[in-house]
Amino acid sequence: MNHDFQIFMEDELENLRGEGLYNNIRTLEGSQGAWVKISGKEVLNFSSNNYLGLANHPDTVKAARKAIEKYGVGPGAVRTIAGTMTLHEKLEEKLAEFKKVEAALTFQSGFNANLAVISAVVGKGDIIYSDELNHASIIDGCRLSGAKVKVYKHGDMDSLQEVLEEEREGRGLIVTDGVFSMDGDIAKLDEIAELAEKYNVLTMVDDAHGEGVLGSYGRGIVDHFNLHGEVDIEIGTFSKALGTVGGCVAGSKTLVEYLKQKARPFLFSSAVTPADVAATIKSVEILKKDDSLVQKLWASGDYFKDNMKKAGFDTGDSQTPITPVMIGEAGTAATFSKRLFEEGVFAQSIGYPTVPRGKARIRVMISAVHSRDDLDFALGKFEKIGYELELI
Ligand code: PMP
Repeated sequence: MNHDFQIFMEDELENLRGEGLYNNIRTLEGSQGAWVKISGKEVLNFSSNNYLGLANHPDTVKAARKAIEKYGVGPGAVRTIAGTMTLHEKLEEKLAEFKKVEAALTFQSGFNANLAVISAVVGKGDIIYSDELNHASIIDGCRLSGAKVKVYKHGDMDSLQEVLEEEREGRGLIVTDGVFSMDGDIAKLDEIAELAEKYNVLTMVDDAHGEGVLGSYGRGIVDHFNLHGEVDIEIGTFSKALGTVGGCVAGSKTLVEYLKQKARPFLFSSAVTPADVAATIKSVEILKKDDSLVQKLWASGDYFKDNMKKAGFDTGDSQTPITPVMIGEAGTAATFSKRLFEEGVFAQSIGYPTVPRGKARIRVMISAVHSRDDLDFALGKFEKIGYELELI
């Protein structure tokens, strides 16, 4: 290793530790569930995006196992070269039907889907209007595209209108997270769609945290606002409520046909594994049949948030089961998270650059698999540590 670079990295790591921003990655000794085993200790899991418990649901596990027996473990190569499996086509049909759009296309992850789609839809000479709190994969997709990026204030439609009013050449694209994963607030997609129509620009929403959470039977943010047919591009990821790994885009048939020819992660990276595809098909089928998991998720989210507020915590402006517990300084948030772990609750602290400096928090991810007893257990621990650290 080059000596100067070695020193540079060591200094950077030391700085991160000093600022309380060093990511300590926990090792799980089993599957994702309400409780997980870490370093031999059972802790309540408040850190996963497994909103509905589908990551280790018996039916999704069974579907993955069956798919491996029939299709093997790998896709062979990129789809344009090795061909596409019937399984991938089936998932794309199911997703399109579930989201009430003409067509869908899968990618290897949600991150890849954002990179792929943004860079295929706009380029040099075009303009992207991007919410300031958009996910890193959107930001990177914007950079990759080469289009000019105009950032509007978070959720602020006046600010969006202001940038839309500025002179434009080429194509325009408004892009937003659907549910902002660090705060749990919902994009004003209805107003965004109206502005998009007025200014003749495209709309794209990343529904990573809306799928399986918002809309009827968890159909997502477009269904939540009843905007079917009015949003040009929906991005999805399977790694949250659907419980697996992969990403997708949903929209018109022509959009999907175009992306199959133009989107580089589709053309140059292999497809999602058969096991993931089959388990995702099962997740969509479970959602379509029964919304009890979605209902339970919301009831648990409301219960937890209400009781945290009663205890004196600031849970921000969340409109979804995502519960940010605002702490402020990254060091204090890290101490809070460490104390929670000692007390049996696995809830990560989140600091800069994922959230702005001075806005560090513990992000609690509620899941339908948590029981009322689990939530009460956690509430007791939050209160205990909140007093201890003089935060409430
Ligand atoms: N978009 C958003 C809003 C996300 O929160 C995430 C995951 N953190 C992604 C995209 C990326 O999804 P994936 O894990 O499937 O790459």
